[in-house]
Amino acid sequence: MPWAGSVPRGQDYVPDDLHNCDLHNCDLHAGDHTGGRELIQGVPVGRILGIPLRLDWSLGIIFWLLSWGLATGAFPDLAPGSSESTYWVAGAFTAALFLASLLTHEMSHSLVARSYGIEVDNITLWVFGGIATLRGEATEPRADFRIAIAGPLASLAIAVFCLGIAGALDLAGAPDLPITMAVWLGSINGMLAVFNLAPAAPLDGGRILRAWLWKRRGDRASAALSATRAGRFFGQVLIAAGLVQFLIGAGVGGLWLVFLGWFVMTAARGEETSVRIAHDLTGVRAGDVMTPEPVVAPATLTVAELLDDFVLQQRCSAFPLVEPDGEVSGLVTLTRLKSLSADARRTMAVRDVAWPLAQVPTATPSDPLVDLVARLGEAGDGRALVFDGTKLVGIISPTDVSRALQIAELRRRGEMRPR
Ligand SMILES: [Zn+2]
Repeated sequence: MPWAGSVPRGQDYVPDDLHNCDLHNCDLHAGDHTGGRELIQGVPVGRILGIPLRLDWSLGIIFWLLSWGLATGAFPDLAPGSSESTYWVAGAFTAALFLASLLTHEMSHSLVARSYGIEVDNITLWVFGGIATLRGEATEPRADFRIAIAGPLASLAIAVFCLGIAGALDLAGAPDLPITMAVWLGSINGMLAVFNLAPAAPLDGGRILRAWLWKRRGDRASAALSATRAGRFFGQVLIAAGLVQFLIGAGVGGLWLVFLGWFVMTAARGEETSVRIAHDLTGVRAGDVMTPEPVVAPATLTVAELLDDFVLQQRCSAFPLVEPDGEVSGLVTLTRLKSLSADARRTMAVRDVAWPLAQVPTATPSDPLVDLVARLGEAGDGRALVFDGTKLVGIISPTDVSRALQIAELRRRGEMRPR
């Protein structure tokens, strides 16, 4: 993407603090562990070539700023002589084409990723451009490189195309305004391509740097750490440049750069954390960290009965539910019960307020924990159930994951410093 690169799903899962409770599944800090993901929401608006597209409300800001800037500044200055309404129509149309070129950039990343068998969760457009969220990672440096370079190449191709159109319009003696529109689109796409090639994660150039270091060192984690460090540095440079611009009177442009720098820095830091988590959890399996034989509750209880007979007795905040035939049908967490009225608690069955089993992340004891961690934010309030065949053998809570991470960190302290 322009600006934020592709983000493997779940990379922003950062278990927060986590206290040192190592008692079962009884952690009282349920809540949302999806870290920075809530920063970019996005409303689903459809699919393009099978890839879900989401638009964030903040996209409206950039659309408005661009339309306004072009209609009242660039276009009247560079192509004088048209009416105010013509400039506004031209400004809005050009801004819309610009957003379409952002989408093309993201689509390029996504299609190349898909050609390597990596599923694309969605493309989201927002105030800082676009983000293609992938459901996995490249398994070798060449794929990593190709997925990353595809975006800037698309932007570059759009730039050449638009400038070509501008040249042709000029030769044909077209009016100034359409030529200016084409030149502007060509230039901004060219700048996007160059900016995104900055060797700093999470920008595309950072991915390219990662792929190159990965190939040289043969170690993806170490390569990714170097790229994220470059990203943090680059973010700081952007913030400083934005502040200087703001102070010398560039106004909104300067502030936007500060926010962009802050975003790059935050994303780089988040990625660094995920790389470390993935590295630390290498070799750790779900069965190693799960709380075995969790306390289960009958699915037929009312919420009030569950509270009286289980929650108050067991000091747990999550219970797998068991149907009369012995089958596990879901997971109920205290978070799901809190919002119910006293009346509802007396009458509702717990199975009606529980997470259905189909939504709860599950694993077998031998599954790598790191794969599961990526899915913990989806449902179940950060918990996962561990099954051996059809038999429930354990539960994993954010506390269990945190404990595993802290143990791994203690084990490696001093030895996994990036080279
Ligand atoms: Zn890109």
